[in-house]
Amino acid sequence: MLPGRDGRWFGASFFGFRVLHNNVLGPGKGGLRFHPDLTLEEVTSLAALMTWKCALIDVPFGGAKGGVVCDSKTLSDGELRRITRRFITELGDNIGPHTDIPAPDMYTSAETMALVYDTYDTMHPGRNNRPVVTGKPLDQGGSLGRRDASGNGVVHATEHFIKLRGLDGNHHLGGLRVVIQGFGKVGFAAAKSFARREARIVGLSDSQGAIHNEAGIDPLAALAYKRESGSLAGMPAATNLSNEDLLALDCDILVPAAVANQIHAGNAADVRARLVVEAAYDPVTREADAILQERGVSLVPDILANAGGVCVSYFEWVQNIQNQSWTEQEVERKLRHKMNHAVELVLKRQHRMRESHPDDPLAGMMRTAALALAVERVACATLERGIWP
Ligand code: GLU
Repeated sequence: MLPGRDGRWFGASFFGFRVLHNNVLGPGKGGLRFHPDLTLEEVTSLAALMTWKCALIDVPFGGAKGGVVCDSKTLSDGELRRITRRFITELGDNIGPHTDIPAPDMYTSAETMALVYDTYDTMHPGRNNRPVVTGKPLDQGGSLGRRDASGNGVVHATEHFIKLRGLDGNHHLGGLRVVIQGFGKVGFAAAKSFARREARIVGLSDSQGAIHNEAGIDPLAALAYKRESGSLAGMPAATNLSNEDLLALDCDILVPAAVANQIHAGNAADVRARLVVEAAYDPVTREADAILQERGVSLVPDILANAGGVCVSYFEWVQNIQNQSWTEQEVERKLRHKMNHAVELVLKRQHRMRESHPDDPLAGMMRTAALALAVERVACATLERGIWP
C-alpha cells in the first residue's frame, strides 16, 4: 500500500492462493474464501479435505481450494470487485470447466462467483464457460437449491444418522434440542431446515455473541433481529451467553458451523450434546475427538456433514454443461439421496472397523470410517489409472 498526499492509502497488493490437491477423480473443486488470516498452509489442508469430501460424496471431482488474504468487512464493493477480477485474471488457465472449478466459501457469495464467471468468460470468449464456477446467481446459470445446500445437507446427514442409529431412543428430529454455533450461510440454512422438521433451536451464536431460549428460537426472527441490530445478542425473549457457555448448553445436537478448533481438549468434557455434527471445517480438534468418543458422544465429521454444498455444485456443473435447469424439488431429492447414501456407507464401514479392531478407539469413529472410504476411492482410481508419463 502507498500513502497518498492527503494521508489516505491508495493502491494495494493482496496475496491470493489456489491449491489443486488432487485431480485423479476429476477436475479440482473447492471454494474461494476471502479472509484476513488466510495462509497457504490452511488453503492446502482445506484443498486436501475437498479431495476426500468429493470422493466420499461420490462426485467426479478432485480437491482444490483458494482465497485472497483480505478483510472483506472493511473493503468496499468496488475494492472487492477489483480484487476478484484481478485474482481470476492472474489464475488464467489454472482454472477452467474441466481443470479446476471454484465456488463460494467464507466471505464470498453468488455475486463474487458472477464476477469469477464474467472475468473468465471475457478471457475465453465464444464457448460455454458457465461450468467454470459454481454457486453463481440463478440468472448466470446458478442452480436452484445451491444457496442452502450446505446447511440442508447438514440436516439430511443428521436426520439419516438419527434414523439409522437413533439418539437416546429417538429416531426422528422432531422435538430434539439443537444448538448451532455460527449464523452465516451454513448455520442459518441448517437452522431453517432443523426448524422445518420441528427440531427446537435452543441456542444460536454469531461472531458477536450467543443466545439461548429453551422454548426455541425462530431462525427467521433471529435473522430479522440480526439484520436490524447487527448481531444476535440482545434478541428479545432470549438470554445472552458466551460462546463457551453455548458449546456447553444442555441439548441433543450441537452443530459447530463457524470456524475451526472450537471444541478442543480444554472444553470437550463440557459438551452436553449427545451428537456433534461438524458443519464447519475442523471445528473439533483431534484431542477433543478422543474425549468425545470416550464420553460416548457421536460425531458426524465435516467431510460428510458439510458435503451438501459441493454436491449441489456438481448438480450445477452438470446442468451448465447440458444447458439445463432442474427444479428445486429435483435438486433437493438428489441431494438427500446422495447424503443419505454416504451416511449409510460410513456407518457400515464404521461398524466393520469396530468389529475388526475392538480395542482401537480411532477405529470406532465415523471420522476414521469416512476418511478410510474416501482415501480408498482415490487410491483405487490412482492405481487403475497408473502413473504416467
Ligand atoms: N466451499 C464449499 C465447501 O468447502 C463448496 C465447495 C464447492 O462447491 O466447490 O464445501
